[in-house]
Amino acid sequence: MSSKFSEAVRRRFMTAGFRLAAWYAVFFIAGSLAVMTLAYFLLSSSLQKSDRADIMTEYEELDAEYRVGGLSGLKEELGHRVPQPGAETFLIRVTGAKDAAVLISAPAVMKRFDLQAIPIPAAGSPAWSFVGTAHHETMLEVVSGLMPDGRALQVGLDTSSRDEFLEQFRTIAAAVMIPAVLLGLAGGAILTRRALLPLRHLIGTVRVIEAGSLEARVPVTGTGDELDEAGSLFNSMLDRISGLVSGMRAALDNVAHDLRTPMTRLRAVAEAALTNESSAEARGEALSDCIEESERVLLLLNALMDISEAETGVMKLKLERTRLAALISEVVEVYSYAAEDKGLKLSAEVNADITVQCDRARLRQALANLLDNAVKYSPSGTGIMVSLAAEGKDAVISVADRGPGIPEKDLPRIWDRLYRGDSSRHEKGLGLGLSVVRAVAMAHGGSATVSTKPGAGSVFTFRIPAA
Ligand code: ADP
Repeated sequence: MSSKFSEAVRRRFMTAGFRLAAWYAVFFIAGSLAVMTLAYFLLSSSLQKSDRADIMTEYEELDAEYRVGGLSGLKEELGHRVPQPGAETFLIRVTGAKDAAVLISAPAVMKRFDLQAIPIPAAGSPAWSFVGTAHHETMLEVVSGLMPDGRALQVGLDTSSRDEFLEQFRTIAAAVMIPAVLLGLAGGAILTRRALLPLRHLIGTVRVIEAGSLEARVPVTGTGDELDEAGSLFNSMLDRISGLVSGMRAALDNVAHDLRTPMTRLRAVAEAALTNESSAEARGEALSDCIEESERVLLLLNALMDISEAETGVMKLKLERTRLAALISEVVEVYSYAAEDKGLKLSAEVNADITVQCDRARLRQALANLLDNAVKYSPSGTGIMVSLAAEGKDAVISVADRGPGIPEKDLPRIWDRLYRGDSSRHEKGLGLGLSVVRAVAMAHGGSATVSTKPGAGSVFTFRIPAA
């Protein structure tokens, strides 16, 4: 129980959110302390400067007096002074040889300082010194200078008023710092929590997906920031993956279904041939039936492999510079017999100059599939027109027929592997012809499209970049 609790505590403290908030707090506190400390030292040094300026002014005045009137002149001057309310009261002391004071003028509070400890200066410019009280509560800041008669003039000021001021500053700073730090900590924790919320949603979604549901999506807030963008990209990636997975599932189902019929037939033919009653001639026929069926299966598997290769971008092409007019004529010639048999008029209108870099065998295959469909689905007496033209940087081959056209509901699916339109079931076919056409076009960096009018015919367009 306690180890579970400590594990939970450890996990909470190891979260990125906690670490971010902790770093934020450390920097915030260190920054605030640095600013306060700097302000404190600046204030303290400016107070000291101002005190020293006052002491020095007093010292210079008395020094001038002493130099003119000597000790008696200084005494007289001090005797004339009228205490000003609120003005600073200085320690004024003149010491003779052996540090015995010959004049001392100071408020009673200064008695607590050890005045004997004020150092006697050497000749030269006046020197600064500090003396403290017995319990070090405050200090006396003194400037001492040597007079021409060998005595020392000392002028000092108690630092207690500036100490009090600094003490107040420290109290106020602490009173401001504590709530500011607490506020900073709370603000940091809230901001970190809010900033990491989309990440937590992402983690939650991945957990749901890991548990087996591909339908989970990251909630997108629409703020358009980086994390929101990552969420929508993640969602569109999931859409694509689930589309691919369901596509693969459907394709696998279709393949299994489509393979079952020829394989069952193959087995039935072989079994029948193996019975004792079958003649040598019947066995020969059965064998050629078997070859025909296995040919069908191989065709199906090869077409499926080609489509997969093209879709994943790994179809190997044997690229050769090709005059398309010649290639089209070859294929049209092959299909002209089948067209004639069905009473169709197959004609071609080609631009003789267009050349492309293509895999001839695959392009022939694609064109043959388009022509095969046109011949297969056109009613007799109609015409089929194959044309080749240049459009911008593309070579465009189109196959137009006057067949039944394609119903709107079939349109989005005719390029899918193994899909066959309902009305086409009476015709022979695997439902792979158009998938191969599109795969070949994609592998060449082109495209395959159709425009159709139900009842009036279809135009299939195969586009590849010209050489
Ligand atoms: P298959 O022809 O073997 O059925 P395809 O992949 O070549 O498979 O074509 C898919 C579907 O598209 C066909 O089943 C048919 O419904 C439709 N189709 C293709 N070409 C034509 C066409 N020229 N005219 C009308 N429908 C067509």
